[in-house]
Amino acid sequence: MARDSGAQCKQCRREGTKLFLKGERCLTDKCGVERRNYPPGDHGRGRARQSEYRLQLREKQKARRYYGVLEKQFRNYYDKASRQSGVTGENLLRMLESRFDNVLVRLGFAASRRQARQMIRHGHWRVNGRRVNIPSYQLRTDDVITMKPSAPVEPVVRDATELTSVVPAWLQADHDGLTAKVLRLPERSEITTPVQEQLIVELYSK
Ligand code: SF4
Repeated sequence: MARDSGAQCKQCRREGTKLFLKGERCLTDKCGVERRNYPPGDHGRGRARQSEYRLQLREKQKARRYYGVLEKQFRNYYDKASRQSGVTGENLLRMLESRFDNVLVRLGFAASRRQARQMIRHGHWRVNGRRVNIPSYQLRTDDVITMKPSAPVEPVVRDATELTSVVPAWLQADHDGLTAKVLRLPERSEITTPVQEQLIVELYSK
């Protein structure tokens, strides 16, 4: 399965913000953005020319990298979002937020989206009792998430729960039983992803 394999800290430095791609390391002073807060590359410290297009492009790249989605897949999300009723940018973020891999991170069951994707692909998680091994699987209201009984990744998942003290109000998590439920889909105000989705909509609407 295709995935974005670029160096993760470089992606954060390119976007000038912490995208939390490496789990626990992101919370320490070893974080690449904390240590070198300028874009990677020979000209990283030079002054980049700002333009409206550049701002929009960077915002799209930031969202794409945050959720670990490739270009084509991201465009497909946008196309679907624009066909739904309501505000396109909010629809887009809601779909990205409801991805199975992202939900595992929000629940505290994975330290990063990359780790979540690996666990899902290896078949360690179930939705409503059925094995789901698709990281982009869209969760819906009332979906129940459970780990495969005696999955070997249980210690990894328990370690990850230590990093998360607050679970968003649209989700319910049981960190002892390692089960969870989607209570509803998130409101825009509940999505903490550091992106201005309107800039992405402007980019794709050209
Ligand atoms: Fe980004 Fe995490 Fe690397 Fe910091 S440690 S630059 S937040 S991936």
